[in-house]
Amino acid sequence: EAHKETMEFQAEVSQVLNLVIRSLYSNKEIFLRELISNASDAAEKLRFEALSDDALFEDDPNLRIRVWTDKEAGTLTVADNGIGMTRDEVMDTIGTIASSGTRKFLENLSGDAAQDSQLIGQFGVGFYSAFIVADKVTLTTRRAGMEPEHGVRWESTGEGSYSIETLEKPERGTEITLHLREDEKEFLDGWRLRQIINKFSDHLTIPIEMPKEAMGEEEEDKNPETEWEQVNKGVALWMRNKSEITDEEYQDFYKSISHDFEDPLAWVHNRVEGSNEYTSLLFIPSKAPFDLWDREQKHGVKLYVRRVFVMDEADKLMPHYLRFVKGVVDSDDLPLNVSRELLQHNRKIDTIRSANVKRILGLLEKMAKNEADKYQKFWTEFGKVLKEGPAEDFANKERVAGLFRFATTKSEGDGQVVSLDEYVERMAEKQEKIYYLTADSLAAARNSPHLEIFKKKDIEVLLMTDRVDEWLMSHLNEYKGKSFQSVTKGQLDLGDLENEEEKEQLEKVAEEHKPLLERIKETLGDKIKDVRVSSRLVDSPACLVVDEYDMSQNLARVLKQLGQ
Ligand code: ADP
Ligand code: MG
Repeated sequence: EAHKETMEFQAEVSQVLNLVIRSLYSNKEIFLRELISNASDAAEKLRFEALSDDALFEDDPNLRIRVWTDKEAGTLTVADNGIGMTRDEVMDTIGTIASSGTRKFLENLSGDAAQDSQLIGQFGVGFYSAFIVADKVTLTTRRAGMEPEHGVRWESTGEGSYSIETLEKPERGTEITLHLREDEKEFLDGWRLRQIINKFSDHLTIPIEMPKEAMGEEEEDKNPETEWEQVNKGVALWMRNKSEITDEEYQDFYKSISHDFEDPLAWVHNRVEGSNEYTSLLFIPSKAPFDLWDREQKHGVKLYVRRVFVMDEADKLMPHYLRFVKGVVDSDDLPLNVSRELLQHNRKIDTIRSANVKRILGLLEKMAKNEADKYQKFWTEFGKVLKEGPAEDFANKERVAGLFRFATTKSEGDGQVVSLDEYVERMAEKQEKIYYLTADSLAAARNSPHLEIFKKKDIEVLLMTDRVDEWLMSHLNEYKGKSFQSVTKGQLDLGDLENEEEKEQLEKVAEEHKPLLERIKETLGDKIKDVRVSSRLVDSPACLVVDEYDMSQNLARVLKQLGQ
């Protein structure tokens, strides 16, 4: 029996649905991209599962997606013969938003439509985008390998509830019919649909078919005699010759894999021949995603093997500190049935990964050199993530450090604009170390009494105010042979920057004030380790310092905030 049930959406689903409709309206055509992308995923999943269970193909091995309209009924349908879904899977994936990122996502919404549509794009709102143009959506599906009577029909007007029932569905896969809103009838136009498919889905290797256009006549609605024609090029963009791909094609491709609305900042496309053949196409987004700091944030590089999609979020293809990179790696040499475990210890993957890192670092170096403004934009969005690099990637420590930008005692405003190369180049004549100061804020840093002697001697000091800086500096000991020295730690040794006279003077003063120092030390007791006369200060009478190998005050504060 049909066993029809009506179910309430999770509260969050309704919330997301409303937002989707409101915020994405100006980009409404993306609904087709999302539905086709799901259909393509479903086909890829079937292809992948069928590697170990051929029977899943039933008697229909030619995977394809079909798109057709019914002008009288005012409907648009997207159908695939992919993996399909069971009743439970429909309820789990379509009626709920399972991802743990959802709550975070909702918290991040501002109420400003333009800003929110950006977020919604990144969130990958997917299936729900159908409700931008439809006031009712009907989905029927049957999981590959199951009997026809295990078909499922799901229907909703997107207003709080949906119905779900079991029905007979002879063909495996999923069919989604949109009952278009009155003013969305443009999506009944075959030409318009072809245009959208070419824009966003050309690169999908699975054929996307529409009813063949009769010459000069209105397109026929689907019927048993319908002749189908493929409307997408079906050539993976990354396999095409670089010189034949336009910037616009790269940008559209980026948008279709990342769900971003903005153009990428830069990309790098390479084909590697030889014993480990593969193609990589990697993009740097122009905006940081809202979940960049989420531990479960997905990595953005997809792994393909000989044009067949194998897995999303292949985090073995890119280190964590470059997790914002999006793109595709397509290997000719890996086995098709690679598992995540196999990727853990695979020399080919290691090689691809380290080459990917070099490509991205090279791309950034070039940008920093030739397009400083663009690089500054990158740094503002992703600098804090890049600072995780020296701790994670020992081999590229110095290269990554070369990409860092800092506020310094000689830079103006709040911007992090000075590179280590610039710093080193304008070091004072006898200066051997790179001096830095960590603080909670730039204002606190600039007013620190620790800087007095450096101002007096006109020595530049890096001012570090990002949360990761302490952690960074515990992994970054030197740059181009110059070691880093915190200006707040230990006995400040200015080395040759201090002349003999100054040193003698300091010793004399220390001797003279010995009784005073003793008294201060006695009074403060356990609270301190030592009291010293110092050359650090010019105007201030006293300051606190920590011992060279002790935790800095700032790190201690950060740990305390974290409850450690
Ligand atoms: P995403 O594609 O990012 O997972 P969507 O909202 O687009 O998010 O889709 C949600 C889920 O619904 C998919 O992950 C998949 O499990 C299921 N789904 C959607 N469309 C199809 C389809 N055509 N065939 C099989 N499963 C589908
Ligand atoms: Mg999707």
